[in-house]
Amino acid sequence: MSVATERYARSQANFAAAQAVIPGGVNSPVRAFRGVGGTPIFFDRGQGAYVWDVDGNRYIDYVLSWGPLLLGHAHPTVAQAIAEQAQRGTSFGAPTELETELARLVIDLVPSIEQIRFVNSGTEATMSALRLARAATGRRLIVKFTGCYHGHADMLLVQAGSGVATLGLPDSPGVPPAVAAETITVEYNDLDAVANLFANRGAEIAAVIVEPIAANMGFVLPKPGFLSGLREMTQRYGAIFILDEVMTGFRVAPGGAQALWGLDPDLTCLGKVIGGGLPVGAYAGKRQYMQLVAPAGPMYQAGTLSGNPLAMIAGLTTLRTAFANDGAAFEQAVTLTTNLANGLRDLGTRYRIPLQVGNVGTMFGCYFLRHPDAQITNYAEAKANADTQRYARFFWAMAERGVYLAPSQFEAGFVSTAHTAADIEQTLAAAEEAFAQL
Ligand code: PMP
Repeated sequence: MSVATERYARSQANFAAAQAVIPGGVNSPVRAFRGVGGTPIFFDRGQGAYVWDVDGNRYIDYVLSWGPLLLGHAHPTVAQAIAEQAQRGTSFGAPTELETELARLVIDLVPSIEQIRFVNSGTEATMSALRLARAATGRRLIVKFTGCYHGHADMLLVQAGSGVATLGLPDSPGVPPAVAAETITVEYNDLDAVANLFANRGAEIAAVIVEPIAANMGFVLPKPGFLSGLREMTQRYGAIFILDEVMTGFRVAPGGAQALWGLDPDLTCLGKVIGGGLPVGAYAGKRQYMQLVAPAGPMYQAGTLSGNPLAMIAGLTTLRTAFANDGAAFEQAVTLTTNLANGLRDLGTRYRIPLQVGNVGTMFGCYFLRHPDAQITNYAEAKANADTQRYARFFWAMAERGVYLAPSQFEAGFVSTAHTAADIEQTLAAAEEAFAQL
């Protein structure tokens, strides 16, 4: 990888220092840039659509903390709300009005949700939702899809996406085989395989958990009928249908993928945007299931910092701002995302670079394909057909031109309400120069 080292000198020094005291120098694996080579860029600050690294380089940011920053960095209203709340106390370990306010707002926005429990990360959300599904059904098996990532709980670190995919890791050591054995994986978009599984073991299956867009192996859309088929099948066999909207929630539409595509899951997992850049997750859904959660019911789940006022006010302010005025700010971000995706498709055609570009709402993905007629509809195809080396060259060519993309081919991109038409134009101009070199 030819990376202009002097441009990133301070990041490199920072990384060396971090590696001495933090495993791999990072607190979450994808940050280590194994997917694109070179050393990670250390950030200093962000404002709106931009981030500045410790060497003073500015970037248009399409990672946005991996999705949460729907309004961009340090949105003044959010920053002020957090600061004011911090003056009043950061955590009480006791209920506050803010939790009910955010709960109400989410229930108004997301069609299937009747009750919600806040936690501190997406990992906690999916882990708790699965415990609830097992409690509700008295069954043990979980069905997940290869290349989908639902956080790092033991039973979900099986054939997972995101950093596990980037690093090409086998299933993680430390997960007891007995736990892994209760998670059955199926290729994404393969409804027939799910039907077979239910036909054979339907009475043992507690839940099917799925990303409505598989955005932790790049950006793979569900085939028509796939998600509704899962809904129908889980219903028929008495299993819980869990839609993991940690990434798609408030990103593909105000009501998430379920509103966009008319899905009615039993449980929904949320995270990222719901905390406006502070650590939050949530699991939510039908009252009949949520009422099983302690203290309303017997299924235990708790958290010292759960529903803490800083995270609640950041989430509330983010959602209110994005969706005020009939969602004008959100719609503008959707338009820009569409323009960006169309621009990339057009460049691919003009420079004869085989691409698979996807976009829904404010999310997008761009695979570089090994062959012009290759297609990616699941994880096996992503591994076989995505040209990760070309992506790595593209990533660094864009970074040099002031555009920060996900440092891995197997991750999605995000646009914020702070991005402007000029940012998209500048990004496409940079991409054109990069494509000319590829
Ligand atoms: N579910 C999905 C769909 C995700 O994309 C992620 C994280 N990217 C998670 C769950 C886990 O969330 P967290 O990193 O907050 O634990």
